[in-house]
Amino acid sequence: MKVALIGVGQAGGNVTERLARFDADMGFEAVQGALAVNSAEADLESLQFVETQLIGADRVNGHGVGADNELGTEVMQSDIQQVLDGLDGRVTSKAEAVFVVAGLGGGTGSGGAPVLVHHLQQIYDIPVYALGILPGRNEGALYQANAGRSLKTLLREADSTLLIDNDAWHEQGESIESAFETINERIAKRVGLLFAAGEAVNGVGESVVDSSEVINTLRAGGVAALGYATEVASEDSGENITNTMSVARQALLTGTSLPDATTADSALLVIAGRPDAIPRKGVERARRWLEDETESMQVRGGDFPMDSDRLGALVLLGGAERSDRIEAFMERAREAKDAQEAGATDHAKELADDRLENLF
Ligand code: GDP
Repeated sequence: MKVALIGVGQAGGNVTERLARFDADMGFEAVQGALAVNSAEADLESLQFVETQLIGADRVNGHGVGADNELGTEVMQSDIQQVLDGLDGRVTSKAEAVFVVAGLGGGTGSGGAPVLVHHLQQIYDIPVYALGILPGRNEGALYQANAGRSLKTLLREADSTLLIDNDAWHEQGESIESAFETINERIAKRVGLLFAAGEAVNGVGESVVDSSEVINTLRAGGVAALGYATEVASEDSGENITNTMSVARQALLTGTSLPDATTADSALLVIAGRPDAIPRKGVERARRWLEDETESMQVRGGDFPMDSDRLGALVLLGGAERSDRIEAFMERAREAKDAQEAGATDHAKELADDRLENLF
């Protein structure tokens, strides 16, 4: 699927850069253009592979909006024309979809991405998707509340919102900050392969997946999730039937960007590997298993032929918002918002201790 990418904010820019680099390194040519937009100049300066656009300079002078996502919304609204002009020529006639990429817990991306999606929808006929990064469980209440509002608005504006939970794709025990590198690399590889499915085919066949299947799966709207797993392919075709089932199971049950999301309106199973290592029987069996697991009658399947000694499975879910993880996240976001609204604490009063005397 040929895509144009626009990263908003720090996470959005970093992930967009990684995606553009992965696509170029692999020679897939699925990424047709990549732009990073931010109100913080320093964050843009660290990017090398994408075009950059500073917004909100008159309001925040290149220093960013902090974690104030309402200000993020305002600066994107004020400078929207500049951003859209900067996209001219990047969303070429070749792009089949636009992805707006952002961390939902911060300020610029959280507040700006929904505004940008809204305006892109007015201009382009191709689908406009969001790729949103959810804050991990241990990130503060402000991040949770910001992400809740941003997600709600994105769900209203975008054709589908692919969510990556910051707790999902890194090792246990690693702090979130040191995990960013790992997470971004994994997002780049997994989402990058999804974009490339149907682009960089080393063999043509009826069963090869193409972009329309990705778009049809995302047509369910709402929340999308992506799962991924690989295993060494066997020389034995019978064993590869078992391996195909096994990678598909791992991709959905343990390798997903949104832990616990299994119920969906639609799904796409892409099996990647050497054409002779992809068993038809295994793919069909895995596809039927996915129908049962997702409780969806709309499960598509296809191959991604590539020169590799591994078998990989990518599972894309569409309409996956009925998951426990989303429920739990929205609950946390609501609680954080309620706590904010309950008003600021009078810290001096909280520490008032009759047994101590004030100095004066
Ligand atoms: P903004 O620049 O104001 O849009 O704010 P950020 O992009 O820093 O958004 C903060 C949220 O994004 C938090 O939940 C962070 O954990 C997350 N985040 C920031 N940078 C990265 C990154 O490079 N990768 C990932 N995966 N998450 C990030």
